[in-house]
Amino acid sequence: MPTRPIVVIEDEDAIRRGVVDTLKFAGYDPVEAADGESGLNAARQADVHLVLLDLQLPKMDGMDVLIHLRRSHPTLPVIILTARGSEEDRVRGLKLGADDYVVKPFSAKELLARVEAVLRRSPDRPHPVQTIASNGRTIDLERGEVRSADGEVAALSEMETQILRYLATNPGRTVTREELLARVWGINDRSLETRAVDMHITRLRNKLAGGDAPGDVEWIATVRGRGYKLGSDLTVNRRAEPREDDT
Ligand code: CA
Repeated sequence: MPTRPIVVIEDEDAIRRGVVDTLKFAGYDPVEAADGESGLNAARQADVHLVLLDLQLPKMDGMDVLIHLRRSHPTLPVIILTARGSEEDRVRGLKLGADDYVVKPFSAKELLARVEAVLRRSPDRPHPVQTIASNGRTIDLERGEVRSADGEVAALSEMETQILRYLATNPGRTVTREELLARVWGINDRSLETRAVDMHITRLRNKLAGGDAPGDVEWIATVRGRGYKLGSDLTVNRRAEPREDDT
């Protein structure tokens, strides 16, 4: 079974250990953090599926963790672990982009039900994109190449493939340069120059255009002042994954 890392940010040892055991038992890979700062770092690692976030934490408050995380990872699922009665916290957390919340004390069953429900509707885990096509030209993300109608093939770099995959996984949504830096390059420092992203996109657009004028097909659209998104007139083909109950 593929690994399913979930970051657990909770400073109360007993609660954290209980959550970790529950997740392990259900087949997830819990990663523990006992304060906000190390929790944020853990949550930003590649391939984290979900974050369970306590709000009152040492070093960095849970709300601040959420605010920072949302800048680089707007779609990473986050469930808040909140104390009974703190409705204000719950509303604020949901406004800041948390996906759901669980009220302490919670049962293992309740926690897993929330985790599964949030993962099911997560935009971060759709079926993988295989190809993107337009006007006789096909981008094959699995092979990392572009094919023209007359059979000409150009290889894409790993970064170029990843940029396209990330944009295609979030169709219709504008992805900021910061988010691309975080999700494709694994760079979370917001002060870093984001012009590197623009340079990569320009080179990628030229490669995708092949011999044609780069403007013929809009593979990657610029959203002025905000970032990039996948062009709207493309055909995106996803791998059809059999559902577990189809077998
Ligand atoms: Ca706490």
